[in-house]
Amino acid sequence: MSTPRPIEPLGHAVPSTVPTHWYNLAADLPEPTPPHLHPGTKEPLTPDDLAPLFPMALIEQEVTTERYVEIPQTVREIYSTWRPSPLVRAHRLERALGTKARIYYKYEGVSPVGSHKPNTAVAQAYYNALEGTTKLTTETGAGQWGASLSFAAALLGLTCEVWQVRASFDAKPYRRFQMETYGSVCHPSPSELTESGRAMLAADPDTTGSLGMAISEAVEAAAKDPKAHYALGSVLNHVMLHQSVIGQEVLEQIVEAGEEQVDVAFGCAGGGSNLAGLTFPLIGKNLREGTTTRVVACEPAACPSLTQGEYRYDHGDVAGLTPLLKMHTLGKDFVPPAIHAGGLRYHGMAPMVSHALNLGLLEATAVDQDTAFAGGVEFARAEGIIPAPESTHAVAAAIAFARTAESDGRSVLIGLSGNGVLDLPAYGAYV
Ligand SMILES: *Cc1c(COP(=O)(O)O)cnc(C)c1O
Repeated sequence: MSTPRPIEPLGHAVPSTVPTHWYNLAADLPEPTPPHLHPGTKEPLTPDDLAPLFPMALIEQEVTTERYVEIPQTVREIYSTWRPSPLVRAHRLERALGTKARIYYKYEGVSPVGSHKPNTAVAQAYYNALEGTTKLTTETGAGQWGASLSFAAALLGLTCEVWQVRASFDAKPYRRFQMETYGSVCHPSPSELTESGRAMLAADPDTTGSLGMAISEAVEAAAKDPKAHYALGSVLNHVMLHQSVIGQEVLEQIVEAGEEQVDVAFGCAGGGSNLAGLTFPLIGKNLREGTTTRVVACEPAACPSLTQGEYRYDHGDVAGLTPLLKMHTLGKDFVPPAIHAGGLRYHGMAPMVSHALNLGLLEATAVDQDTAFAGGVEFARAEGIIPAPESTHAVAAAIAFARTAESDGRSVLIGLSGNGVLDLPAYGAYV
């Protein structure tokens, strides 16, 4: 008997509470999201433009307006090792705050790498393996995405090469150890290994790097290798799609908890994927069925793309290799200060999240770092979980809301996108 390929389903039972389909907000939007444009011609992208970087299944998911996309069984089987993720009532936090709101958190920190990112990493690795890719390249900031893609690549039989922003590569080695444990190779970015990296080093030999620079390197490496593809952990429409498992589970779990609906949902926003995953199914229900969930995107005051950025076409990377995306952006050359929430240090915001903000389907607020950590510490002391520095932005905004009279009798949802156990030096610096 030959060994089955890692992409074949094993055939074991998967609980019915693991979603069978991803939900796509594009089906319910009153106006379509502006298309991505070719960086050279400035015309809408064609599937052929993206083919050197992505498998066809993901290119189709990038533009589909189907409401539901079936989740392949292999992906559901892998999801079932940590999904459905728990929706927990934060009784002790409520008591500590003396609030009359009912606070819930949806906890994505139960995944193997401790964040929501594997929801899309597994899907992306699956479609790449299915179409014959043998290697994935990507960038990572603090390392959550690199670790997530490394995990998914290991399970689906792919190799993975990661460019990590220099500042994090030097200061935060633990996620690199995670990546290497999964069998990936991790380089500091900018590196001497790519043309774009060499150009950036020539311009500034002491640069600490940025996500935009690392993306240029990973994209270039994939474009030059016919067996390799590139994978992006946030921002693109297909990533928002994969993350929708979070919010679809919430829709079931919140009813089980005895609520009619989520009244106000808070999610942190870096590239927009955990926010979209948590809230697009809820916004879709608002649009289709008239529920009235308010959605608040919580971003760092130090990298305020939604609250301070311009809504225009911009590149996703510094070298300008990626398509032009219509998004709230601080400009592709913006290098954010080295805040602890590395996952929120991106100059732009997902086109679908930007569009939803523009349509008034969600709101945005900026939270400064001290306020965010104060919220994280308050949450940890009441509930026990130490939130990821990224997630503390949502926690702090929800706590501030729960302290107002406006929250009386309301159900409040916090997107707890990850845990902070690998970010303890950041907490150490704070406390
Ligand atoms: C990467 C990351 C984020 C930010 O990315 P989004 O695409 O905005 O979700 C938020 N929280 C955690 C735990 C992360 O790892």
